[in-house]
Amino acid sequence: MPMPPDSVDLHTHTRHSDGLDTPAELVVKAARQGVRRLAVTDHDTLTALPEARASGAACGVEVLTGIELSVQHGDFNDIHLLGYFFDSEDAALNACLARLKEGRTQRGLEILHRVNRRLSDLGRAPLDSRRVQQYASGVLTRPHLAQALVDQSYCKGHQEAFRDFLIPCNAPKPLLSLEEGLRLIADAGGVCSLAHPGTLSTDPNVLDPLLAAAKSLGLAGLEVYHRAHHPDTTPFFEAVALRHHLVPTGGSDYHGRPTGPTLGEIAPGYPVPGAALHDLQRFAASRKSD
Ligand SMILES: [Zn+2]
Ligand SMILES: [Zn+2]
Repeated sequence: MPMPPDSVDLHTHTRHSDGLDTPAELVVKAARQGVRRLAVTDHDTLTALPEARASGAACGVEVLTGIELSVQHGDFNDIHLLGYFFDSEDAALNACLARLKEGRTQRGLEILHRVNRRLSDLGRAPLDSRRVQQYASGVLTRPHLAQALVDQSYCKGHQEAFRDFLIPCNAPKPLLSLEEGLRLIADAGGVCSLAHPGTLSTDPNVLDPLLAAAKSLGLAGLEVYHRAHHPDTTPFFEAVALRHHLVPTGGSDYHGRPTGPTLGEIAPGYPVPGAALHDLQRFAASRKSD
């Protein structure tokens, strides 16, 4: 099915976080798919933006400034906030992202240390930290360590590596609070949409207090259109967004995986609604004129 002329995608990843494509590859693919406006929303980093913007200028795709921040609130330890329209050069935002990266680097090394202690208790040779670092192009994460354990023949697959080593040897992830994440993006001139709410809960008794709190802290949108809750619970989330006066947004959450979604679509034949971007822009403009 051809893409509509106002085709957008408000949620995509590159290899600067957990996607597979370079920023330029992502943008070229978007152009080929007919996506004209593309938000690059890597996890907790803005480093893909310069290359994505340059590539967008060359192939006629408007690259929108974006990010996906992991935050916590109450019992929720992995809420994802999509930030848009902020100043990507904002000093406080960049300083905070640098601190988070340092925290995640330390976490990776701590988990490696714990895994090696466990291996030594089992009478096995430790993982070589320099070799393990080669699995990661940025921060060392648990999937990298799982691959190292598999390659050393200590585990048959990632599932076993997580069960026997990475879950028992886990160390806490450094996280911003919901309030800090929302304030950081607002102070940099942007707005946030709460990503894939269906991965948090589909129980109104759980979602309503969370969204009421987030709305009071400045949340602008709710990612109603996402493959995690398409099509079964999309009407449910449309109603939730309406109830909390949140702009319904959407995106493919494309990671470049061969079996994953197509850019600009929630599911085959279901393009991301172009109104999502217009409504969010209107909301951001009204906030600025307040
Ligand atoms: Zn996410
Ligand atoms: Zn994502």
